Amino acid sequence: MKPETLKSEPILGIDLGTTNSLVGVVDSGFPILLADETGSRSTPSVVGLAEDGKISVGAVALRQRALHPTRTITSVKRLIGRRPGEAGWTPPYSLSDLKTSPVEVSAEILKHLKAVAERALEQPVSRAVITVPAYFNDAQRNATRRAGELARLEVLRILSEPTAAALAYGLDKLGEHQKVAVFDLGGGTFDISVLEMREGTFQVLSTAGDTQLGGDDIDRLLAEFISDRLKLPPNDIRVLEGAESVKKRLSNDETASFHGLHITRAELERIARPWIERTRLHCLRALSDAGLKPEQLDEVILVGGSTRMPLVRDYVRELFQREPNTSQNPDEAIALGATIQAGILGGSLRQVLLLDVTPLSLGIETFGGLMNIIIPRNTTIPAKAGEMFTNAVANQDNMLIRILQGERELAKDNWELGRIEVPFPAGPKGSARVGVQFSLDANGILNVLARDTATNTDSTLEISGTAIDVEDERVEQMIAESVDFAFEDMNERIWTEAKLKAEELLPAVDAALAQLGESTEVRECAAEVRRLLDSPEHNAAALKAANQKLDDATQSLAVMLIERAMEESLVRRGLV
Ligand code: AMP
Repeated sequence: MKPETLKSEPILGIDLGTTNSLVGVVDSGFPILLADETGSRSTPSVVGLAEDGKISVGAVALRQRALHPTRTITSVKRLIGRRPGEAGWTPPYSLSDLKTSPVEVSAEILKHLKAVAERALEQPVSRAVITVPAYFNDAQRNATRRAGELARLEVLRILSEPTAAALAYGLDKLGEHQKVAVFDLGGGTFDISVLEMREGTFQVLSTAGDTQLGGDDIDRLLAEFISDRLKLPPNDIRVLEGAESVKKRLSNDETASFHGLHITRAELERIARPWIERTRLHCLRALSDAGLKPEQLDEVILVGGSTRMPLVRDYVRELFQREPNTSQNPDEAIALGATIQAGILGGSLRQVLLLDVTPLSLGIETFGGLMNIIIPRNTTIPAKAGEMFTNAVANQDNMLIRILQGERELAKDNWELGRIEVPFPAGPKGSARVGVQFSLDANGILNVLARDTATNTDSTLEISGTAIDVEDERVEQMIAESVDFAFEDMNERIWTEAKLKAEELLPAVDAALAQLGESTEVRECAAEVRRLLDSPEHNAAALKAANQKLDDATQSLAVMLIERAMEESLVRRGLV
């Protein structure tokens, strides 16, 4: 290989966190994080919008929070890519009053990080890898990408945070074969992922999490406890800041005080425990999706500031029945992983392959309002899959394809990401042949291709900006609901399928009866199917059974039809 004569422009690795953000680059083959002029490698993800239009970012903005709570924007990551009210969290500021948006605010943080990097590197930079929680959906990933572009950064890759953490952990273990879980509890989000590392490749086997669970919640509960004891107004920003500081001190000490009030670690743990326990189901789900038992994991890696809490470590130890791995600096692992990925993309680190997975299933609505999954949840991306569909009704000359994301059986309960209309020549039922292909790129951006195979006409759709129009439900809520409603959903799916089958069967039975005359058994079976179809109670199992009985009864009709036809033919040919 020829030596490089020009110093190539480095690619930034950025952890755009809920509470703090970090930036790094690969320098002489090593990933390093960059410090600002005060020597700090971590920038608070806080933006201040002064009345005179002046914008401040980071520690400066955070210092002014108590003075200007409504003009200081914190935890904007909880809002990005969501509709107003969808985040399930009411910030102490109003972005619309401030005439800004989560994308613009995130862009300010990214501009600041870019400036930190340019100052440290003494050269301009224009490309970056940015991390997002594994649970971010298309809308949230795209919004993050737009924030990067607004900050004049070409976003080469949107990387899942646990994947980044595993990359930081696994860089010196590239020859090994390991299965690891990354337990990431930060300020605002919780992520759990199971990954497999083998010969320098990383494959995410499963991910789960809660985008509304983190240290901030514990701060709020502790602040309520403190303001209650000290008779201070709740929601006072100083109490909230005091609570966070007490919480952090209690990670090392048994007691801490605030305005003369002594708080013990045991008290904090009593308050925090129910929140920490909310991670349990997600962990079990990630393990079961990966098809692993806790003892089959090689390591459970802790990342995110909140994993410094002894309670969290105890809880993880108990849940996974092993000592958690605390080798990574919980605040820096993700940024380091993003930097490693940036180094790989830029060619300054040897190639490590990174495989990511889909957090939610992707599919389309089919006849009867059912969800037809094309790319299942937890599929490794990039991924490509397709299926053929036909027309359910005669003389139909187009098909409306609704692209859905979610885990529910009925289309209406999933999120619509977009729709395409595919025209085709009208014909009898079942005559059209429309192929639908989903292709998910490495960033989780979905391209949909629908082709009428008779005319080879393609209709395509890229789900990027339009993915903002997802319904007012949250990703983890989707998973929880798919479990909660599993029974009802399955009943509705069986009902719908049975109903479609009955509607196909009945006209055929009527026709056969007309030809063969009476068959009391068949007539009774058909009447039972009709009765169940008309009944308001949607008894799916009964309808399915009745269909089966009718089908069986018509088998004898079919045999009779064949026998009669043969007999007639034999008679015609004078053989009997
Ligand atoms: P992250 O989002 O990973 O930057 O994590 C930030 C969260 O970690 C915040 O909720 C912090 O309060 C919390 N945190 C940081 N240090 C500690 C500590 N020593 N003990 C407990 N929580 C901490």
